[in-house]
Amino acid sequence: MRKETKCIQAGYTPGNGDPRMIPIIQSTTFRYDSSEAMGKLFDLEAEGYFYTRLQNPTNDMVAAKIAALEGGTAAMLTSSGQAASFFAVFNIAGEGDHVISSSTIYGGTFNLFNVTMRRMGVDFTFVDPDCSAEELEAAFRPNTKAVFGETIANPALIVLDIEKFADAAHAHGVPLIIDNTFATPINCRPFEWGADIVTHSTTKYMDGHDTSVGGCIVDSGNFDWMAHKEKFPGLCTPDESYHGITYAEKFGKEGAFITKCTAQLMRDLGAIQAPMNAFFLNLGLESLDVRMKRHVENAQKVAEFLEKNEKVAWVNYPGLPGNRYYDRAKKYMPEGTCGVISFGIRGGRAAAEEFMKHLNVAIIATHVADAHTCILHPANSTHKQLTDEELTAGGVGPDLIRLSVGIENADDIIDDLAQALAEV
Ligand SMILES: *Cc1c(COP(=O)(O)O)cnc(C)c1O
Repeated sequence: MRKETKCIQAGYTPGNGDPRMIPIIQSTTFRYDSSEAMGKLFDLEAEGYFYTRLQNPTNDMVAAKIAALEGGTAAMLTSSGQAASFFAVFNIAGEGDHVISSSTIYGGTFNLFNVTMRRMGVDFTFVDPDCSAEELEAAFRPNTKAVFGETIANPALIVLDIEKFADAAHAHGVPLIIDNTFATPINCRPFEWGADIVTHSTTKYMDGHDTSVGGCIVDSGNFDWMAHKEKFPGLCTPDESYHGITYAEKFGKEGAFITKCTAQLMRDLGAIQAPMNAFFLNLGLESLDVRMKRHVENAQKVAEFLEKNEKVAWVNYPGLPGNRYYDRAKKYMPEGTCGVISFGIRGGRAAAEEFMKHLNVAIIATHVADAHTCILHPANSTHKQLTDEELTAGGVGPDLIRLSVGIENADDIIDDLAQALAEV
């Protein structure tokens, strides 16, 4: 199936007389004929469900659709994008381990790594995504367990050179984890460029309608854990907390990562997505391809308008021919990047605030990447907890305005921006 068809049909094939839509299995528990039958599930000897804190059929059908879109072998939903980022890293890096991350990642992920996961004993080195291969090489340590980056950084809109990061990671026997939230598998499939694990905040384009917070982790099935046994004891040696199972042996390259993540982390931390939210997510996925095309088309028009406006000091959108990442975006995302633009207006921080007061179509919201056009001044909201140095390192200056172009009529969005700019 092609991606447009996968959006509609992957993950669930109704049998004779079955519901056409992925059903919402709103049940915490599942019934079995005998304790023995249930025991097989606990031993991971049989497939099935016993408690929705670990796994739920609705979630799994929706996760399977996302796995199909990404070209992966296994996937799981989480309650948020934050949970997906945390689980994906913590599944292979614990106390005493080290992870390399691009410095220009989503602010929430940066805090998760730099504050909360450091407290858990995981060390991080943040590298400039445009660093040379030598600089990237120098960041590795004997205890490095993973490399992390974002396809298109939120909100800096830096397009990652996925191949460069994948090559470096593989030369050191560790996987590359890519947060593909902004591009979605419609516009970029990181596995085709060497990434091993993909994460998503499904809250953004995938849900697409401001309804449900959620996340997803997808495994490419390509990383050979057993070939790097000494680095990944959690996958390659028996899990005493799970009846002595060795995940990489029992579930192979294709299934070990997600099975361990479900059996251990979901069991212990319970950050499961509600089946109802997975249902909403599936509705979003059905129109994802159509919506992404409109997002890209609208954002291109808006970026071109902004670039020509004299009150605008700078515009950052990878679809503009003058953009630093134009060529790289064409390579990794030939059909377009996303609907998010960042720009600054003359007069800096104060002018940004004045401008935003006059908007009517674009609403001020701590959100991006959905059907409704929305706008945010990160230095004054989402990134408020970061120091000026961290802001600059993350590619988010104090004057930066993040505009998430929706799927309304592009001319209405442009008219709204034009009248608000006239007020500044
Ligand atoms: C929003 C976002 C996250 C976090 O996702 P939540 O669903 O809000 O927890 C992670 N990565 C990126 C790129 C995001 O935009």
